[in-house]
Amino acid sequence: MTDNAQYENCDVAIVGGGMVGASLAAALSGLALKVRVVEALPPSSADQPSFDARTTALSNGSRRILTGLGVWDEVSSAATAIARIHVSEQGRFGSAVIDAAEQGLPALGYVLENRSLGAALWRAVGAAGQTRILSPATVTAMRVEPDGVELTLDGAGPRQLRARLVVAADGAASLVRREAGVAAERWDYGQTAIITTLAPERFHAHVAYERFTASGPIAILPVAGGRVGVVWSLAPEAATRVLALEPAGFLGELQRAFGWRLGRLAGLGARHAYPLAFTRADSQSAPRIAIMGNAAQGLHPIAGQGFNLGLRDAATLAEVIAEGAGADPGGEAVLRRYVEWRRADRRALIAFTDGLVRLFGSPFAPLRAARGLGLVLFDLSPAAKTAMSRLSLGFASRMPRLARGLPLSAVPSAVPVRSR
Ligand SMILES: Cc1cc2nc3c(=O)[nH]c(=O)nc-3n(C[C@H](O)[C@H](O)[C@H](O)COP(=O)(O)OP(=O)(O)OC[C@H]3O[C@@H](n4cnc5c(N)ncnc54)[C@H](O)[C@@H]3O)c2cc1C
Repeated sequence: MTDNAQYENCDVAIVGGGMVGASLAAALSGLALKVRVVEALPPSSADQPSFDARTTALSNGSRRILTGLGVWDEVSSAATAIARIHVSEQGRFGSAVIDAAEQGLPALGYVLENRSLGAALWRAVGAAGQTRILSPATVTAMRVEPDGVELTLDGAGPRQLRARLVVAADGAASLVRREAGVAAERWDYGQTAIITTLAPERFHAHVAYERFTASGPIAILPVAGGRVGVVWSLAPEAATRVLALEPAGFLGELQRAFGWRLGRLAGLGARHAYPLAFTRADSQSAPRIAIMGNAAQGLHPIAGQGFNLGLRDAATLAEVIAEGAGADPGGEAVLRRYVEWRRADRRALIAFTDGLVRLFGSPFAPLRAARGLGLVLFDLSPAAKTAMSRLSLGFASRMPRLARGLPLSAVPSAVPVRSR
């Protein structure tokens, strides 16, 4: 959707229409706010991360948020429920299973192709009254003033966009975060994730596998049509080598690392490589700026939590703005509340994911032994499994209303909300 005016004012400008930015736009679309989403890549681009070939594991909390956004109904038929998670380590005795039924849950989560989810989110945003997507359009510069932020755009839409609140949803290398002067810690994991799909000999039976190997973790997720999605993390040189192999050679190497739980691995789909890095912004806000998703924290995909966390960022900011009942969405009170609310969940999930990478990435012998033992003990401990299944819900003491299956606002009459 384009707008040819050279200058435009809006309430909220979301920079980045990836899965997190689009989710926020969908969440805000019920409020009486003029929202603009600026996205550099058209949805048809193969490089657009929200429309790529990956599959995303969604937590139960994320399913509830997507239901609240009116998106879940559209994608639910393409989603595959995770009934069990099986965790093992190559060459070690011991494995652990977390079972949805044992935890009293209908599913531990759901797997969906990014392409389906991204397209459904964009349709939800495109259908909303005062919200427009400007794409392809790139934010090239930003100037923050006391009462608003001026963005310079290159591409579709106006040349200048002025907003009371700018949201950095522009990924790990965020320009908005940098221009706002918010520093970010960033390091390379020294791993590349190869993602692909397979049609294994045996049906996945709705089991998600997490297998730790000396060369890196492998996640195998159940997807529709009996296929599985694979995320295989390897040292960059090893990744380059296996990517260059013929399908049979690649499948043979993966089979050796993963084992035979799914029978013979076959039906290899297209392979894509993602270099893995950790990013953590020092803060989730700056004057008139909110930072979320990969722009706030980029995590290793080992626990499949990056988007789930970013979606809770989006649901929280939308709720805080709705609570403000027409107050300045970029005001200090809104931003302070957003940052405080996100702190515990964000901190715990980053520590959990990073801890997992370190624990299973270590060749230190006693740690290796403890891991095998840990998996056995974990398998015997209902309390540990319940704690783990909490990942499905997030770590904050209070989750945003959308993640609890409630509408965005508790008091609809106090908030200027449009009918959807
Ligand atoms: C291999 C792999 C597997 C994963 N699996 C899972 C999983 O199972 N579950 C899970 O929860 N998470 C998973 N994740 C993490 C998840 O993919 C990310 O957390 C999520 O995609 C982040 O979305 P985002 O919208 O914040 O950022 P991005 O997807 O990076 O989107 C940023 C957007 O901003 C746009 N942009 C950037 N700069 C500008 C600019 N200047 N102007 C305009 N637009 C701009 C970009 O074009 C892009 O569309 C995985 C990640 C990887 C690498």
